[in-house]
Amino acid sequence: MADVSHGTVFKGAGVVGGIRYARAVWISSRPELPEAGAVIAEEVREHEQARFDTAAEIVADRLLARSEVASGAAAEVLKATAGMVNDRGWRKAVAKGVRQGHPAEYAVVAATDKFIVMFEKAGGIIAERTTDLRDIRDRVIAELRGEPEPGLPDVEGQVILFADDLSPADTAALDTDLFVGLVTELGGPTSHTAIIARQLNVPCIVAAGRTISTIESGTKVLIDGSLGTIVLDADEADALAQVEESIEQAARIAEWRGPAQTSDGHRVQLLANVQDGATSQTAADTEAEGIGLFRTELCFLSATEEPSVEEQAHIYSQVLEAFPESKVVVRTLDAGSDKPVPFTSMPDEMNPALGVRGLRIARENTGLMTRQLDAVAKAATDLGRGYEAPTWVMAPMVATADEAKWFAELCRERGLIAGAMVEVPAVALMADKIMPHLDFVSIGTNDLTQYAMAADRMSPELAYLTDPWQPAVLRLIKMTCDEGQRQDVPVGICGEAAADPLLAVVLTGFGVNSLSAASSALAAVGAQLAEVDLGTCRKAAEVALDSEGAAEARDAVRAILRAAADSR
Ligand code: PEP
Ligand code: MG
Repeated sequence: MADVSHGTVFKGAGVVGGIRYARAVWISSRPELPEAGAVIAEEVREHEQARFDTAAEIVADRLLARSEVASGAAAEVLKATAGMVNDRGWRKAVAKGVRQGHPAEYAVVAATDKFIVMFEKAGGIIAERTTDLRDIRDRVIAELRGEPEPGLPDVEGQVILFADDLSPADTAALDTDLFVGLVTELGGPTSHTAIIARQLNVPCIVAAGRTISTIESGTKVLIDGSLGTIVLDADEADALAQVEESIEQAARIAEWRGPAQTSDGHRVQLLANVQDGATSQTAADTEAEGIGLFRTELCFLSATEEPSVEEQAHIYSQVLEAFPESKVVVRTLDAGSDKPVPFTSMPDEMNPALGVRGLRIARENTGLMTRQLDAVAKAATDLGRGYEAPTWVMAPMVATADEAKWFAELCRERGLIAGAMVEVPAVALMADKIMPHLDFVSIGTNDLTQYAMAADRMSPELAYLTDPWQPAVLRLIKMTCDEGQRQDVPVGICGEAAADPLLAVVLTGFGVNSLSAASSALAAVGAQLAEVDLGTCRKAAEVALDSEGAAEARDAVRAILRAAADSR
């Protein structure tokens, strides 16, 4: 943990843990964008179009060449970025601008702006892709002008890279021996910067806000990718000791092997969050004991027509296949809000996060739900999954006992084990009435926090509220766990909270049965649990619940863990 007792502290969202101390260096500036106004003569427009086509091809080819030498998510992202340069819609929009007489540079800006507006309107995951759009715009403009490609600076020695936002192409090309940490003003936990930083395992903080632009290149900074803190003027000896401890901890995590249990043998199932066959396969190569959240809607973000039962069953079986002998929890479509699924034809709403999303869509369109459940049941049956490899299904955004009962009946008619997500606070408050209808529940702490704190989970300004350490959220989780124990209904956690090793100690103290997170986060959680006994977890849970705020809760739990470690 970064010692924040001295020095100036900036705060962002920590997306890859680890402490590093090095010089800050800002990414090279982006090309200045042309203004509207200039008009080119009709006879040179064809030539202007050819200039653009050549520049776009060079940029796309360069990205593709880089994708061939990269691997995993980095390769995928580079390929996808090259695909954006070749996107027919974007290129048509540029061509239209040129036909109307805009110089190619300005036509690129105008076309990109149009797409940025569309992406921002879609919100959520799609809105986070605007970084990629701006990146291809800047690369093509630099190429048109014969300027060097914008991006990573040449550096000597280790540095922490600062940027307003990092393009996927820059992040994927990082030499992690030199760039030992990343900090961005913008971006979000699901942005490409975060995804690739996770793959590269470089400590990373996003959404740190405009104020970090006051940090000059060359300034020594201490970053903590778990806490999201950036400290200036840290005591050098102290900072280096923290870095060493962090690197040792990383080694302990790398060595950790499951199944997860506390030092006195209390078991907690560690499961993976996945979105398709590929992520499920990746999870199977980790210590994950199964899948705790398969976000099915992410398979269909660009599907304009509902896939048939057979097509859906095929997609689901790719996920199930990776865990032929373990539990898999499939979540039915959580369409709406930040995850628009075109074929569900959602209404335009003023407040989509509070609107018709998740299970609510299926109340109006039952066929959407029954066909999806048929597909899950078909995939499970075709693969011969049974008692040893149970297929659990849960609905997102359940708010009432009536909804839980309705959903559970549909599942049981198809031989599926029925659960609900606890992400609407009403469900935690009404757990005594809702749980009797269900076989299990899984707490979605991302939305539970958003709704309990009345704070948009995508808002960087409200990150201090959308923090699952908020005691109000912890109390809702505790209520759910208590009721689960009373009724013998398993309670899991599948929001980002499950990926926070320190919070995992508290959740274990509450008595959760499973923790499900991105598979890359599981070893850190398992290694942390192995260092504490159940009594310490319970004490940690007690002090966190009794805290006044999120920061106090974290500090109190850290103090408990330090005291427990000192007494060993
Ligand atoms: C959650 O809300 O915590 C959750 C796991 O669902 P999602 O993040 O997909 O909304
Ligand atoms: Mg949710």
